[in-house]
Amino acid sequence: MSEQEDLEELHWLMGVIHNINVGLLVIDADYNIKLWNNFMVNRSGKRADVAMGANLFDLFPEVSSSWFIRKVESVITLANRAFTTWEQRPYLFKFKNYRPITGTGEFMYQNITFLPLKGVDGKVNNIAIVIYDVTEAAVGKEALEEANIELARLSKTDKLTQLNNRGHWEECLESEYDRYKRTGQATTLIMFDIDHFKNVNDTYGHQAGDEVIRQTAKTLRRTIRKTDIAGRYGGEEFVVILVDTPSENAMILAERLRKRIEALTINYDDLAIKFKISVGIAEMNKEVADYKEWLERSDKALYYSKENGRNQSTLYDKEKICDLKNVG
Ligand code: GH3
Ligand code: MG
Ligand code: MG
Repeated sequence: MSEQEDLEELHWLMGVIHNINVGLLVIDADYNIKLWNNFMVNRSGKRADVAMGANLFDLFPEVSSSWFIRKVESVITLANRAFTTWEQRPYLFKFKNYRPITGTGEFMYQNITFLPLKGVDGKVNNIAIVIYDVTEAAVGKEALEEANIELARLSKTDKLTQLNNRGHWEECLESEYDRYKRTGQATTLIMFDIDHFKNVNDTYGHQAGDEVIRQTAKTLRRTIRKTDIAGRYGGEEFVVILVDTPSENAMILAERLRKRIEALTINYDDLAIKFKISVGIAEMNKEVADYKEWLERSDKALYYSKENGRNQSTLYDKEKICDLKNVG
């Protein structure tokens, strides 16, 4: 090749390097910058004449030096390429993301390739670093993951009360049943239903009725422990699994809840609404054939509370199936 051809090829190559839509920089073993392409100029806001010859850590103090040095040294020692993806480390240089379509990401997510550059002596004297802008893919993937998490949450949650919905709560009940079978640890189920709720709707309207349901859920949440599992079982019917709790303690909690609700006044528009609940309690024991039977027992106890005059709590008692223990 003639000198003229050499120069032309070099010129052509530099054109490609500068205009390529990835970041390209070359550093020496002392971390001094030897090549800084247009992509790097535009994204970093640092001109080539400023960058060239400067030490990378002086120019970009935010670059994590311990990580970067480890990476570069391994490339030099092994004379091998190295990669990092945005999932391992979102970026090397903190560049603003200004892609209009993406919009949401604050900074540019980057995949990075480190290439060893051998000199005529066969030693790695320089390292080329290629920076790929992968913001769109990263933001898309993150948004999808967030959406999936939110979707999973929504599919388990009752919209009005934010408690577990019936389907998910029943799954929890089944696992708690299985847990009892393994550990034999006391666990008790509470079911309650708002008394004469039809009257609330009829007197104050359906919207006010919804507010009563919401406030009932709020009171329930405030009364139980974080580890207890509460759910909305039906319209104005609620359930709680009290883990690690025998029936005596469950009865104390049920009564506390019942009295709190009895003492509550719901102010909705200019209405002042009072209401009460009836409660059924069933402790798990070895005779309970499956989780459905456990649920039925609490339902029977609740029915007893209703039949016996409402605004009270009843504990299911196997010995006296029809003679249930009752407080109120
Ligand atoms: P009891 O003391 O026997 O429980 O009497 P009740 O009037 O509460 O009777 P029941 O449980 O049969 O009635 C429940 C009513 O709750 C019927 C239904 O219209 C109403 N309801 C169910 N879901 C909702 C809801 O999401 N919002 C409102 N506002 N009302 C609901
Ligand atoms: Mg009711
Ligand atoms: Mg009901």
